Amino acid sequence: MDRFGRLSLIASMLAVAPAVHAQQRYDIIDMHFHADLPDAEGPPGSTVCAPYTNWLPRDPKRPIADYLQRFSVRPNCPHPLVAPTDAAILRQKGIAALERFNMLALAGGAATTVERYRADAPKRILPSAGFGSDGTLPPTDELRRLHAAGKLAALSEITSQYAGIAPDDPRLEPYYALAEELDIPVGIHLGPGPPGTAYFATPAYRVAAGDPLRLEPMLVRHPKLRLYAMHAGWPFGDAMIAMLFAHPQLYVDVAVLDYAYPEADFYAYLKRLIDAGMEERIMFGSDNMVWPDAIAVAIERIRHAPFLNERQKRLILHDNAARFLRIEG
Ligand SMILES: [Zn+2]
Repeated sequence: MDRFGRLSLIASMLAVAPAVHAQQRYDIIDMHFHADLPDAEGPPGSTVCAPYTNWLPRDPKRPIADYLQRFSVRPNCPHPLVAPTDAAILRQKGIAALERFNMLALAGGAATTVERYRADAPKRILPSAGFGSDGTLPPTDELRRLHAAGKLAALSEITSQYAGIAPDDPRLEPYYALAEELDIPVGIHLGPGPPGTAYFATPAYRVAAGDPLRLEPMLVRHPKLRLYAMHAGWPFGDAMIAMLFAHPQLYVDVAVLDYAYPEADFYAYLKRLIDAGMEERIMFGSDNMVWPDAIAVAIERIRHAPFLNERQKRLILHDNAARFLRIEG
């Protein structure tokens, strides 16, 4: 207690008049927007449930195609979203959602695709580099070039968990060092992949590589790094809260949980983080992938969360990301 007492005394001595806040330009910031092509999630035109009501069992005797038929081709759910198969329509619908909700999006993806989105919506897209799901990592020189050209505001989504590469893997070290040096944020995929992904898409995906505790050595090694755990490390709430508590520079997003996960589970997980006192560390993300209609569902579920007050909704939908990105006052 003594130590906290001294800290608060010092804090009050250092207190200064609050800064004048700049006019806020956006209502919502999406920290997990993908600038994708229609084949980014398997065969174009697939379906996602918004939300899924349960996670189906798979009979391993049956071909995986049978399972995929029920999971992402023709799932049986009350609110299915079907992906556009045309790249221009996919892009236009994504941008239309950003306009409709007056949003800024940190947009991850291949540089050419991100730039194509940005050409259509320069004020709504912050360009970011996404990489890692197949285990291929980009040369850091290439990232430096993009940054120098004003085409790189963050490294996200780093999806190396799909290749079994955990956050503390030495192969990722050059990217943390680069982000710290360039003072740009890092978003790392931590947690869920599509159920069964190790059997049909990314054989090296491992749940264990998404353990939030595996962020720790790197956070300590790079104390100036701005990093957020995407998907809030679902479902490792205990470890995620321990990490947020011990490392106050760490943030999370709640992407994909907010539209695809059963409502009771998403709300329980989010409430757990809120109850633990993390309301100023949770950021909105959609993880729209190839389903632009998911953005509206994700926003509505935040807006209608019965346990969030208006301030907490604002923090999650905008203010926390603005602070994390150091924009908008
Ligand atoms: Zn992800």
